[in-house]
Amino acid sequence: MTDRLTLAATLTGPDRPGITAALMGAIAGLGTEVLDLEQVLVRGQVTIAVLLGSLPEDLDTLEDRLAGTCARLGYRLSIDEGVGDNPPRARRVVVSLLGRPLRATHLAEAGRVIAEHGGTIDRIRRLSRTPMTTLEFIVSGTDVDRLRPALAATAAETGFDVSVSPAGLSRQGRRLVVMDVDSTLIQDEVIELLAAHAGREAEVAAVTGAAMRGELDFAASLHHRVAALAGLPESILADVRAAVRLTPGARTLVATLRDLGFAVGVVSGGFLEVVAPLAAELGITHVHANSLEVADGVLTGRVAGPVVDRAAKAETLRRFAAAEGLPLSRTVAIGDGANDLDMLAAAGLGIAFNAKPAVRASADTALSLPHLDAVLYLLGFSREEVEDAAAARAASVG
Ligand SMILES: [Mg+2]
Repeated sequence: MTDRLTLAATLTGPDRPGITAALMGAIAGLGTEVLDLEQVLVRGQVTIAVLLGSLPEDLDTLEDRLAGTCARLGYRLSIDEGVGDNPPRARRVVVSLLGRPLRATHLAEAGRVIAEHGGTIDRIRRLSRTPMTTLEFIVSGTDVDRLRPALAATAAETGFDVSVSPAGLSRQGRRLVVMDVDSTLIQDEVIELLAAHAGREAEVAAVTGAAMRGELDFAASLHHRVAALAGLPESILADVRAAVRLTPGARTLVATLRDLGFAVGVVSGGFLEVVAPLAAELGITHVHANSLEVADGVLTGRVAGPVVDRAAKAETLRRFAAAEGLPLSRTVAIGDGANDLDMLAAAGLGIAFNAKPAVRASADTALSLPHLDAVLYLLGFSREEVEDAAAARAASVG
């Protein structure tokens, strides 16, 4: 079958209704088989590529009918006679490129790295135009483990974001998304908001910064910072809960993941007293964080129970995945700090979100624009799909 004569026809022209009907109608009745058909539409210009098999003896009639239809419609036509179907697309990976703006320079560099690693770009589609441009490439002939670090390094140097994932079934179906909280789900570091009430914000912020850059042991630094809160009335927790600002796109991300039936969790080196109500409001079911010890209505300056540190965050991801019956290959972890690194490494896809340089350098994927809903584009959903889902939610509430 594969060595049979086939004909690849490519048509380009202004989009209008009924093109496919006109094209296929012209050759209907010749017994021709459609082996492949793809179409792209960019700013009103449509390109249709069709691969035809079971060709008639009289190829001229087929080609004349195609040419006549294209002439009538004002389309350019190119015809290539050849043999067989498309070659099989093996070792496929998905490469997502994000930029604001995404420039030709970025694509030149990405394309060069993909080619240097043996990759062929089979298909490209745009997933978003705002707030950033996202293009998704389906690439064959290369491996995630080789391509990912090379593209990540080029992206960091050239100034765009990139994600490389296996194209298999793990991209389809249900997944678990686990987020860090401070400076990921929310814009703030809760310990700093708490410390402001004790008049020690600057001191605590300096320690937090060093810990998130990986310069300090997390647990020791947490004990040190929480000690600064000793004697504060428990009531400040409500003030801090009210002051927390969600990261742009956080609500959209969580609501869309819930619409998809995905599992969502948060794990935080911050505090359950602030994280749990926030998670409940967003409908996030899996929650794990530290607890502040309270006695007689005041914070004691101690953490209650074991500290949620770097290792505990990765362990929590595994625990949430097990509870959902999902393998780690179907998990996505998102975080910004050094204490997120083990969790990002353990997940099927680890995303460094507006991360400290050491974290960005170690993660699979980095997002440098402050929009959490861009994670949806990395998972393969388009802005149109996300907006349609938001409109459907609004309609069901209204
Ligand atoms: Mg964080």
